[in-house]
Amino acid sequence: MNEYDSNRIYDLTATIGFNKTNIKTEADCFLINTCHIRDKSTEKVYHEIGRAKKDFRNLKKPLVIVAGCVAQAESNEMIKREPYIDIVIGPQSYHKIKDLILNFEIKKEKANATEFDVVRKFDELKKITNSQNKISSYLTIQEGCDKFCHFCVVPYTRGPEHSRPFKQIIDEAKILIANGTKEIILLGQNVNAYNSVENKRSYKLSSLILELNKIKSLKRIRFTTSHPKDMSEDLINCYKDCEKLMPILHLPIQSGSDRVLKLMNRKHNKKYYLDIIKKLKNANRDIKISSDFMVGYPGETKEDFADTIDLIKKIGFVNSYSYIFSPRPGTPAAEKKLGDLNENKNRLKELQTILENFQYENNRNYLKKDCEILIENKLNNNKKRYFGRDKYMNAVFFDANNCKIGDLINIKINSFNKKNLFGVYKTHNMRAA
Ligand code: SF4
Repeated sequence: MNEYDSNRIYDLTATIGFNKTNIKTEADCFLINTCHIRDKSTEKVYHEIGRAKKDFRNLKKPLVIVAGCVAQAESNEMIKREPYIDIVIGPQSYHKIKDLILNFEIKKEKANATEFDVVRKFDELKKITNSQNKISSYLTIQEGCDKFCHFCVVPYTRGPEHSRPFKQIIDEAKILIANGTKEIILLGQNVNAYNSVENKRSYKLSSLILELNKIKSLKRIRFTTSHPKDMSEDLINCYKDCEKLMPILHLPIQSGSDRVLKLMNRKHNKKYYLDIIKKLKNANRDIKISSDFMVGYPGETKEDFADTIDLIKKIGFVNSYSYIFSPRPGTPAAEKKLGDLNENKNRLKELQTILENFQYENNRNYLKKDCEILIENKLNNNKKRYFGRDKYMNAVFFDANNCKIGDLINIKINSFNKKNLFGVYKTHNMRAA
């Protein structure tokens, strides 16, 4: 979502004359768009500002802006702690960036904008063309979260759930497609909680997918990130009815232990999750699932961890993320006693080894088979080498002549490693015409 936000922040600042530069010391405005999910994210921001201070030591000081979730969480504290920062702007207030910059240029007054003003944000953004022209583009449809998992900062930094109006999203999608986008990834912290009530009609995520599925020059649709509790029947049926919806779903479970899921306040249990997977497989037997796993949540026992391993073996996830719990200030879990770090590291290693083995076996299954790829890039160092992704989001490198970015082609996979697939061009896909 930060990639989407950064792009939109750029679109806004471009209207008052800013351009991107790849040469840091040429910049007269230095903006860091921050994420609060990772460990020690706040300190990393101050380090980055420290680096900028050094780089600009003998140059004119740039205007320094910190945006995003760290800005939201730290607010005024940032300006107090680091006077090199001029403007702090939260993720729901970045539509104000033009006024804040212009005001700073006139009055030289530092500013802190961290209100949850999400309705006005998207009203402002719809007036500015989304200039992104990537083959695969992000499109935010929903922000914020009402779930309050005990380990997570999102409900505090992005605020309550808000769904953008249906037509506003479809209009933005059409602009992206006119700019060359072939794949749209619908985004939301809780993307499948999307629900926009307009003229007494309720539009869901499934309504958006069905509508996008009708657009001829759009080839692929994806969405992320989903909560198991919001995997409704209409959404599951999209995997049966919409040929452009790719058959991979990122569905975080975090733990396979009902006891830990309850401690986390996840609002679903293992059986509920398994039932969803069953329904998804019934809708489309080719569907694959990726997930997030948190190891060492406060109170997790060896038995709880064994339940998680059991679940992983049962489902056989692909392309998943895993990490050791680390406390986020202000969340209920931050108050809890941490487990033994060495034990947690061992658990993570065990879990990651199993996930890697599944990934390896998954990739091995591609060998000597045909695979449909959407070409995203041509590699600089080799005239015939391209990069694309298959329908499961696997990264694929391949050699081809007479291809162009955005083509949908079939390639034959001839080798693989844990992360990537490698192949050669076979045919263009007729759907691409
Ligand atoms: S559902 Fe996701 S975004 Fe919401 S609180 Fe839980 S982990 Fe955070």
